[in-house]
Amino acid sequence: MKTQSQKVVSFPTTKVRALVRGLCPRCRSGKIFGGFIDMNQTCPSCGLLFEREPGYFCGSLLLSHLAGMPLMVLLVGVAMLYFGPDTSLVVSTLTAIVAFAALSPILCRYGRILWIHLDQGLDPARRPPRTVRRVRTSAVDTTERAAV
Ligand SMILES: [Zn+2]
Repeated sequence: MKTQSQKVVSFPTTKVRALVRGLCPRCRSGKIFGGFIDMNQTCPSCGLLFEREPGYFCGSLLLSHLAGMPLMVLLVGVAMLYFGPDTSLVVSTLTAIVAFAALSPILCRYGRILWIHLDQGLDPARRPPRTVRRVRTSAVDTTERAAV
């Protein structure tokens, strides 16, 4: 028997939470990425096609670039603070480049996630209509129907 303090409170997944957790923008339960770098082609939960057309993720490169520039400036600033004022800017910049290279897969990942969420917010993909599954009858049945 659960007591009041043992109750599990589940909040509805908001758009922001789905974005941070890398979930599908339509159902907010299926993961966009199956692994760290491996991206699912469709949502495992609702079947939304993530890459809608060839070259779809070119916009995500722009988002990654826009997020990467302030991140690089921040990393150079942190390196300058870490090494102190006597260290040259070249050393701080090179250190920031190494740190940026290590963080770039995460940046690329969130650029794609943000791009999918933006695109689905502006032009949501419709769910495919339910198809009526035809049950094939045997050839004998069709000939009987034709005879009638
Ligand atoms: Zn989904």
